[in-house]
Amino acid sequence: MEEINQKSKILIVDDEKSNLMLLNRILSAEYAIFTAKSGEEALKRVKKDEPDLILMDVIMPGMSGFDALTKLKEDDETAHIPVIIITGLNSEGDEEKGFSLGAVDYVVKPFNHAIVRARVKIHMQIVQQIRTIEKLGLVDSLTNMPNRRSFDSHFALEWKRAAREKKPISFLMLDVDHFKNYNDTYGHPQGDVLLKTIAKIFMQAARRPTDLAARIGGEEFGVLLPETALKSALVIAEKIRSQVEAERIPLLSDGNQITSVTISIGVASCTPLAGDPPEAFIAKADKFLYVAKNSGRNQIHFEK
Ligand code: GH3
Ligand code: MG
Ligand code: MG
Repeated sequence: MEEINQKSKILIVDDEKSNLMLLNRILSAEYAIFTAKSGEEALKRVKKDEPDLILMDVIMPGMSGFDALTKLKEDDETAHIPVIIITGLNSEGDEEKGFSLGAVDYVVKPFNHAIVRARVKIHMQIVQQIRTIEKLGLVDSLTNMPNRRSFDSHFALEWKRAAREKKPISFLMLDVDHFKNYNDTYGHPQGDVLLKTIAKIFMQAARRPTDLAARIGGEEFGVLLPETALKSALVIAEKIRSQVEAERIPLLSDGNQITSVTISIGVASCTPLAGDPPEAFIAKADKFLYVAKNSGRNQIHFEK
């Protein structure tokens, strides 16, 4: 049972039972096989079974394999799943069409069993490699700064070190003010440019080797400052806040006034005791950020 769970999953889509049986026979030793007999059924099964790879026939009654492929690529949830076309259509035009719709490979029936197995294997290996890269991924691809995963592991270590050495540690939680407005006015790509600009300011502010500026979520950032007490953390927070304001990045306010982009910051600081939960510390900075927002934004909130 356990072994079956670990097998990669393939969805085979073909209206002819004999084709399904043949492909099942040549692939089932290595993979968990699911089948669908039409394009419509395939779209349903993909959501339910979450296959790692799809083998798709083209000519089927109702929705064709090409149409099903198009639908899969239009849906963010399924667009990443590699689709290999397996068809009796052997013209170059059909093959070109399959690739242009987003198929990763094209196999013409009747096919050589070993070659189908080899092609499936290659695409499965690519799937696994992408997963490994995503798992190892520590850098946010938009801003090139450490991502959430990176932050979590660095923070866990520094939190323990602070408790062990009885040293203060501070954390800044930062969030762009009215960023939805900014995206709505200038478009999402321009919003991305803004995130890159402010990310640079955050990274420059975190200057010691153990400091860490990271992208915690979409437009939320964190700056971790080990061996830093509240007073110094507030100096750094104010430097960041004023630098973002000084960039004078134009923003259209709700009242159609041109203002400039600002950020709000929540600052938490403490000297942890061994065993203190790190989550509560982050939650405190998050709560203070919320207070800063509710007090008019473009400001820093903390509590002594
Ligand atoms: P507030 O001042 O209360 O923070 O208001 P806000 O409009 O900034 O509200 P909120 O923080 O909830 O807005 C989050 C917005 O950030 C919504 C989302 O579309 C946008 N966003 C999140 N990630 C990205 C991204 O990677 N790029 C862009 N352009 N926008 C993003
Ligand atoms: Mg915001
Ligand atoms: Mg936000």
